[in-house]
Amino acid sequence: MNPDRVETMDTSDRRSPESIPVPRDCADAEAILMSRELSCELNRAQLIKKFMRIAVLQLGVERAVLILLIDGIAEVVAEAVTLPQGVEVSCRANEIFSALLPMTIAHTVMNSRERLLIEQPEAFPDDPYVQAHHPKAGLFLPVLRQDRLAGILYAENRSTSAPIDRAKISLVEILAAQTAVSMENARLYDALKQENRERTLTAERLRRSEALLAEGQRISKTGAWTWNADSGDMQWSEQVYDIWGLRAADGTPTFEALMQRVHASDRERVIGLHALAIISEVKDEIYTTEFSIDRPDGAWRRLQIVLRPWSRPGERPRLYIGTTADVTERRLAEDALKRSEAHLSEAQRLSNIGSLSWMVESRILHCSAQCRRILDVDDSTDIEIADILARIHPEDMEGVAAAFFRNEPSDDTIQQEFRLTVKSGGLRYLRMVARSIRSTSGAVDYVGALADVTESRNAQNALMEAQTNLTHVTRLSVLTELTASIADEMKQLLASIIANGEAGLRWLDRLSPSVGDASRSFDEIVKSAQRTNGVINRIRSVARKSRAERKMIDLADTIHDVLPLVRQELDRHAITLRTAIASHTPMVCADNIQMQQVLINLITNAIRSIQRASGARKDILITLDTVGDSYFRVAVTDSGAGLSVDARQHLFEPFFTTEPEGIGLGLSICRSIVQEHDGMINAENCQEGARFYFDIPRCPVREAAH
Ligand code: ADP
Repeated sequence: MNPDRVETMDTSDRRSPESIPVPRDCADAEAILMSRELSCELNRAQLIKKFMRIAVLQLGVERAVLILLIDGIAEVVAEAVTLPQGVEVSCRANEIFSALLPMTIAHTVMNSRERLLIEQPEAFPDDPYVQAHHPKAGLFLPVLRQDRLAGILYAENRSTSAPIDRAKISLVEILAAQTAVSMENARLYDALKQENRERTLTAERLRRSEALLAEGQRISKTGAWTWNADSGDMQWSEQVYDIWGLRAADGTPTFEALMQRVHASDRERVIGLHALAIISEVKDEIYTTEFSIDRPDGAWRRLQIVLRPWSRPGERPRLYIGTTADVTERRLAEDALKRSEAHLSEAQRLSNIGSLSWMVESRILHCSAQCRRILDVDDSTDIEIADILARIHPEDMEGVAAAFFRNEPSDDTIQQEFRLTVKSGGLRYLRMVARSIRSTSGAVDYVGALADVTESRNAQNALMEAQTNLTHVTRLSVLTELTASIADEMKQLLASIIANGEAGLRWLDRLSPSVGDASRSFDEIVKSAQRTNGVINRIRSVARKSRAERKMIDLADTIHDVLPLVRQELDRHAITLRTAIASHTPMVCADNIQMQQVLINLITNAIRSIQRASGARKDILITLDTVGDSYFRVAVTDSGAGLSVDARQHLFEPFFTTEPEGIGLGLSICRSIVQEHDGMINAENCQEGARFYFDIPRCPVREAAH
């Protein structure tokens, strides 16, 4: 059990490695070289390798293991093995100690911190390593650094029984101490290098962040500054100088000098706030103010200052940190926006048109002030779509739903007119023009304009009413003119009835009554009576004041119906009227009475023109033709005076007349009737007189049925 303690160093003689005197037995040039080699090496791994190689060679052992205490924990750091080609050192870590060296003995050495040479390892039968590897001789050397245990070197001979070179043990022990110091130097050197690297990196980061900060300040037109209330010392970033239009080289101006640049209207307020910030005891309070300045170059700028007092805990704030931002462009843009908003709002008010947007998912309407007025809702409340829908006139609801509640929104502009009940209980006519927009998130929004067209709708209704009245008056005036001729026709029909009645009676009064002849007379009576009835009905229908009522009519029938009404007038002036009607009888969707009205007007005008012309020919021709695929044309051509240049320019204008008795409304009424039927009316001079014609669109569906 007793290890052969060959040599014990006198620990009282231990000094720092640098001052350790070279032992006498090692005091040769080789030892000095080895020591220098180890002290110069600053790479930890290289240092360990060099030391291990020296130790193995100097001790003449097959193998050595180095354990170091790193942060108080033992770690195997290297293993050196003597091979035929030389000593091979491998750096190891996390090894199982007991597989590398006799740990039970190592612990004893660690505690005693004294070298131990074992020449009879069998004296340690309990050590697992000894049991497994049977070393022939082993040496434990404590590695000391300034009296402190830095590790253990274990050297052994396993296969040979060659003794460990005792003479070199002291040298190796000193070199071990030297290595421990060098290792510490290497560690300090590494730490220094690392610190330097980090310092360079930090400096670089700082430089970059300063550059970034300066660029950020330039872009955002915001500079940073500090001000010491005690010393009056101010520190400005470059940007603050730029904002004030000053040069950094001239140094920071005094507060008073700065206030001279502030507009008089703002100055008092800024000085007041500055004073308030200085006496404040609250360090987290943030003060903001805005003012205008005149820069040295004469430029007007608007600046915004944000200021925060700063202090050490328990002290009154004496340092102020702040930013100065040039908000000129922002304020100008805001002013422009406010102005344009005011213009828009005024324009909306004047035109009575509001703007609105509607996010379908939220079901909330966003309306301009005018739009709210039109919808008759308060300024403050959210406008729910459902509330508006509930106020739409039931008859208009279907149209609104079809326009705005489609499954797929389309790019088309939606135009919809509807009536809305307002708080007073009255109805408003509203016209909405909107477009749907699909956002990137897939949500559908509508944006549009809402116009209150109540007034124009009422005016339109009044106009229609007036037009109906006017049409009626004109019709009556035409009828007045025609009364004489109608009376003549009626007289003739009545005379014919009387004559046929008398003839019939006579046929029956005879000795041998002729029932056949009498019955023919009575037939004539019936026919005349029917014709009379027809004339009366037509007069009544023309005279009746009615609104347009469109249905499928045959324009040829219309022409035939009109002829009896004008026949007497034609006869009175010895005018021949002919008709040329295309073989295909057209059906159009129109108001029959209004079509008759147009025709009567044109025929009456033609009669008057022929009268005026008093030429040899007295003809009127009425034609009915197709024009292209979709229109039918009714034309009235006369052999009258024709159209003067003046008349051609103003024919269809209301109150244009060349007749002393005329009122100049006939043609303008004709035009509005034809236009209401989506047609057009025109006039031109022809060979002898004038030709008036109007085109009415055909009704394809009904015609197909016809
Ligand atoms: P009015 O018959 O009361 O004058 P109209 O509107 O019917 O009003 O006609 C306006 C004018 O157009 C007439 O005064 C006349 O000068 C001209 N005019 C209308 N029809 C004809 C026509 N067939 N030939 C020549 N001039 C015509």
